[in-house]
Amino acid sequence: MASITDSLTRLGDLSVPFTPVSVTGWGDAELLASQGRIAEVRRRLDAVAATVAGEIAHRSRRELGHAGLAQSEGLRTPEELIAKVSGTSTRDARTLMKTAELLPARELAPDAAPVPRWQRLIGDAVAAATISVEAAELIRTRLIAAEGVDENALATAAGRLLAEASGLTIEQLAIRAGRVRDELDLAGIAEREQELRAKRFLRVSPQLDGMTRVTGLLDPESAAIVVPILDAATSPRRGGPRFVNPDAVQRVEDIMRDERSTEQLALDTLVELVRIGSRVDDGKLLGDRKPAVRILVTRTDLDARVGAAFFEGQSEAVSVQTAERFICATGAIPILFDDDGKALNLGREHRLFSEKQRTAMAARDGGCLMCGRPPSWCEAHHIDHWDEHDGRTDIDSGVLLCRFCHLTVHNNRWRIRRDGGDYLLEKPDPNGVLRHTSLPSRSPALSRLLAG
Ligand SMILES: [Zn+2]
Ligand SMILES: [Zn+2]
Repeated sequence: MASITDSLTRLGDLSVPFTPVSVTGWGDAELLASQGRIAEVRRRLDAVAATVAGEIAHRSRRELGHAGLAQSEGLRTPEELIAKVSGTSTRDARTLMKTAELLPARELAPDAAPVPRWQRLIGDAVAAATISVEAAELIRTRLIAAEGVDENALATAAGRLLAEASGLTIEQLAIRAGRVRDELDLAGIAEREQELRAKRFLRVSPQLDGMTRVTGLLDPESAAIVVPILDAATSPRRGGPRFVNPDAVQRVEDIMRDERSTEQLALDTLVELVRIGSRVDDGKLLGDRKPAVRILVTRTDLDARVGAAFFEGQSEAVSVQTAERFICATGAIPILFDDDGKALNLGREHRLFSEKQRTAMAARDGGCLMCGRPPSWCEAHHIDHWDEHDGRTDIDSGVLLCRFCHLTVHNNRWRIRRDGGDYLLEKPDPNGVLRHTSLPSRSPALSRLLAG
């Protein structure tokens, strides 16, 4: 069986057909040592690749115009040519070219500025194959932001990072290089912060299939606000801290049991926070006309409980059950159409439980009346249908249900009835006979009061 040394030695000889090595019989130590040696061979190759890329760039330099190498090959820039020839990205090609500028043996254009000493140190390390071109480019771009700092201090910093780089992953090196740069240039921190902050954005783009894609970049301050909130919502999944407090234990169990993926949980948390936030906005962020979610449905579909409903502004249909649940939870009145497409009403918000009423319900119910999930997970279910009983909004006509149980109730056309101070779930048994099961409060405080 070929050893790693033989394989690596033969790699560069393209006259010998390439044969992959079989490693299944190797011991752990041999495997790890091989990975290290492969990385070193790769760094040597990188150094050669950077030298070649540098020469391609030199022969494609702007003043040569159409006679330049890249343009005579029909490509606009040397990075496009390098990427095409090597089958890599133009970003990787640019990294090679940038690194080439630091290499000791480089052909300097006559008018080129000399390479600063700290950058030459980086070039020397690449040429000696002690660091990868990726690490070299990272150190260069991090430290260049501190330029204007004393040349000797920069050279010392570069030397330190080059010495540390071999023991670090690229991610660790990025953090470390940022620290070293900030120590050198404390005064530049504010400016770099501004640069990062200027790059922040959020873009919302509707997709052809009815989904909406959200893309964005958060600057450090924005990320510090948003990320821990999403982490807190999903932390039990990611092996977060375990608690002894029974409520916390229950919450962790609920989250683990939840059939949603961690990413779905993060999105639902974000949507919920936006919804709650828009409710408490006093007009400063969103103006005095609060955006209301409106649902559009025909009277016929709603009465038949089959058909299609639409959220205003969205092109994809949702089920009538979703419309019902939404109407129930938000207190919205749907915009109804008759069969000729005439709007029957204007769908203003109505019957919405106030924050105070929700707080009272949370104290009374202690969570989802059906499964016990905490109040923060719950929607208020109106036990009266939206067009029955003049739409009473006192807290007796609402109970807390988590989204899942709430959907279950509406999808199965179950009802919740009030019986004195208690609530009963009314659903048909397998023979179609209506049965009532009691839905006791989940509130520990309330059960103590009643017991006492
Ligand atoms: Zn529930
Ligand atoms: Zn409901």
